[in-house]
Amino acid sequence: MDFYVAWFQDHLLAVVAVALTLILIYHYLIERESGVKLSKRYRNSIFEAQSKVFLNATQYLISGNKDLAIKEFLNAVDINRETIETYFALGGLFRSNGEIEKAISIHRSLIARENISESNRLRALKELAVDFDKGGFIDKAIETYKDVLKINRDQYEVIHSLCRIYEDIEDWDEAYNYRIMLSKVGHENQAETISHILVQKAKIYFNGGEYAKCTEDLEDAFRFAPSVSAKIMRLRLHLHNGALESSKSLLLELLKEHPMYASFIFESLAEPLRTGSDEEKDNYSKRFALIKEYFLAMDDKELLSSPSVILSKVRLLKKSGDPEMAYSLLNEWMNGDGKPNEAMKAEYINLLIELGKKDEALAEVKGLLQNFHQSLTKHYCKSCGYNSDDIFWRCPQCHEWETIQFRWKV
Ligand SMILES: [Zn+2]
Repeated sequence: MDFYVAWFQDHLLAVVAVALTLILIYHYLIERESGVKLSKRYRNSIFEAQSKVFLNATQYLISGNKDLAIKEFLNAVDINRETIETYFALGGLFRSNGEIEKAISIHRSLIARENISESNRLRALKELAVDFDKGGFIDKAIETYKDVLKINRDQYEVIHSLCRIYEDIEDWDEAYNYRIMLSKVGHENQAETISHILVQKAKIYFNGGEYAKCTEDLEDAFRFAPSVSAKIMRLRLHLHNGALESSKSLLLELLKEHPMYASFIFESLAEPLRTGSDEEKDNYSKRFALIKEYFLAMDDKELLSSPSVILSKVRLLKKSGDPEMAYSLLNEWMNGDGKPNEAMKAEYINLLIELGKKDEALAEVKGLLQNFHQSLTKHYCKSCGYNSDDIFWRCPQCHEWETIQFRWKV
């Protein structure tokens, strides 16, 4: 019994090939009886060619020469159109099975064939690019996708794949070029995404101290769409340039429009300058301190009704060593009309403990535990559910832009 199993494993491919040949012969006989549309001569020649191919392939398989066997199988391609579909199907199957090398060799030999239609050659080239892409051969994937575009520029999916790759490797210049190309080919509006990409470029210039170029890209970003990331970047740039008054009005405008981003705005602004003289860096920190003070002093009713704004104020106050003030602000909220969320309750308990108000802390903990809802991360993606503590403008999982949602973390 074991002997048969071992023999079968060794000759599995050969057995499959023989079986296929038998099936073909069977079909040939059936079709000859039923007399389908194909002329007899045509059918006979197909049958002969296919039998020859499969017999040759079988021989190669038996002698252990798999490469020649595959080549021989591929010879069947020009015999009829259905066989081409079989190879595309096989290639796709190998790829989805993680056998990238095999998929690549199938698609490569299809491309190399002389007697294949141009549309099928293009299709095989596209499949090959996807193989490289899925296999993580980024450079080859890029090159092959570009080869496809050289033949036909109107390939939405190919351009989209190039966008994804360039965004992944953070090559923002190319990401920008292909996004523009995508906006011309597809019907979806790409303005928001292009704006985000330009902000990424601007950010790199900002960190490298190239403020003129940063301003240029940022202005371009606004021309496409006033995305939140562009507004935050502009605020940081104004702060660096020393335009304190305009920074203040930009901050107010930004908070009114997107109070949800309050904490993140301050996280971004608090980041010290990466390049520049000590004086430049020092000036930036001083201006940041001033805009922070301005924010803490804001008593706009509309803004103070946002839990995010309150929470950012509380956190900033705590960080600058003023827990009393943080407590009084939060205490007012807790006893007001607004509904405190879990993050606020947790922050409140922290403050009560820090200030030695043990009895109140205990009572709050008890209340909190009654409807305790544990969430793992601060942020998640509304389109695919990706979880992260980091801020992401572009979801690392589904690659959509600005799908981030804020979760109140305990
Ligand atoms: Zn996502």
